[in-house]
Amino acid sequence: MPMLSKLFLLGLLSSTLLFSATNLLTKAVVKKSELRLTFSQKISKKDVTHFILSNPHREVYDFKNTRLAHSKVPLGLGKYVRMAQYNKNTVRVVIGAVKGYKPTAYQPIFAKHTYHISLPKGKIEDAKYKTPKKKTYNPHKDELIVIDAGHGGHDTGAISGGKREKDLVLQIAKRLERKLKKRGHPVYMTRKKDRFLKLPQRTKIADRKNAVLFVSIHANSVPKSKQNSVHGIETFFLQNTRDARSQRIAARENKSVLKGTTKLSRNVIIDSVLTGPKIVESNKLAIDVHRRMITNTRTMYSGVRDGGVRHAPFWVLVGASRPSILIEVGYISHPRERKRLFTPKYQDLIATGIAEGIDSYLGNRKKEIDF
Ligand SMILES: [Zn+2]
Repeated sequence: MPMLSKLFLLGLLSSTLLFSATNLLTKAVVKKSELRLTFSQKISKKDVTHFILSNPHREVYDFKNTRLAHSKVPLGLGKYVRMAQYNKNTVRVVIGAVKGYKPTAYQPIFAKHTYHISLPKGKIEDAKYKTPKKKTYNPHKDELIVIDAGHGGHDTGAISGGKREKDLVLQIAKRLERKLKKRGHPVYMTRKKDRFLKLPQRTKIADRKNAVLFVSIHANSVPKSKQNSVHGIETFFLQNTRDARSQRIAARENKSVLKGTTKLSRNVIIDSVLTGPKIVESNKLAIDVHRRMITNTRTMYSGVRDGGVRHAPFWVLVGASRPSILIEVGYISHPRERKRLFTPKYQDLIATGIAEGIDSYLGNRKKEIDF
C-alpha cells in the first residue's frame, strides 16, 4: 500500500475517533418538576442546542456528541417528555406542549455530568428512564413438552378416503408446537417430517430430554360398515383396561411394535408399568386437555362427539415416567369428521385446546406443589 493512502487512512481514522460521539446519556429522571439528565462524561454547554418546534409547540434540546446508553428503548417519561437517538451523534429530548410553559435549563454547579431542565409544574409525575428489562421472566422455560406425531414413514397409520393418519397428526403436532412455544414452553418433536420411528424410541426421547409431559397425537378409524356412525375426540392415558373398545384401539396403535413379540412378553412389559405413579397425573392431564379440545371445537362446529377420557395400554405410553397421554383427534374414517380434520381451522381449534389443557394442568399442578 502506498504511503499516501496510508496517511489518508490514518487521517480518516483519527478524525472519526475525534468526532464520534463519546458521551453517553445514562440516566433520565423526573423529580420535583425537573427533568434530570445524567451523562457518562462532563457535559459541555456548547454541545447543547435548544430550539422550538411548532404545531404542536415543543421545546427541543439536542445533545451533540452523545448517545443513549440503552439503544433500543422507546424513551418517554410521562406524557410530555420524549427522548431519542436523533442521529448517530445526537440525542434529542423533546418536551411537549403545555400552555405558558417556558423551560429553563442549568447545570448544577457541583455535578458537571448532569443537566437539569425545568418542567411545567404539576403536569408531570416523577418518573424514571428505566434500563431495558433483560427478558421477561418465563415461568415455563423449564417445562419441556415432547410432542409425538404418531406413525410416519412406511407406517401410515389409518387410511381412509385417500387421507392418511400420519399426515394429519403431523400437521396438528406442528400447530401445537407453535402454540406451546408462543406460551413459553420449550418443545421437542419426536418427528418433524414424514419419517418412521419405533414406538419405544418416542418415549425414550422424552426420558432423555427429561420432559415434563409427553403428548402423542393420533387419529382413529373404524371399518367401512361403521364409518358413518363412529366419530369424535378421545383422549387416553396409560392404564390397563378390560374395556374391549379401548383394547381394540390400543391393539391397532400397538400393531407396528408388538408384531413378533410373544403374548407373554407383551403382557410382562405392559403389566410392569400399570402400577406406575404417573397414572393419576396422566389422568388429570388427559381430563384438562380433553375438555379444552371439546369446548374449543364446539365453538365453531356442530356435532362434535365427546368420546371421553379413557385408559388403555398403549405401547407408546408404556414406560413413560412422566404424565403421558395419547389423543385420538377424530375418526378419519368418518366422512364429515375427516373433512374437518384436514382444515386449518379445525386443526387450530384442536391444537389450541391441547395447549390450553396443558397450561391448565401445569398451572394446577404448581398450585398443588405450592400448598
Ligand atoms: Zn395412530
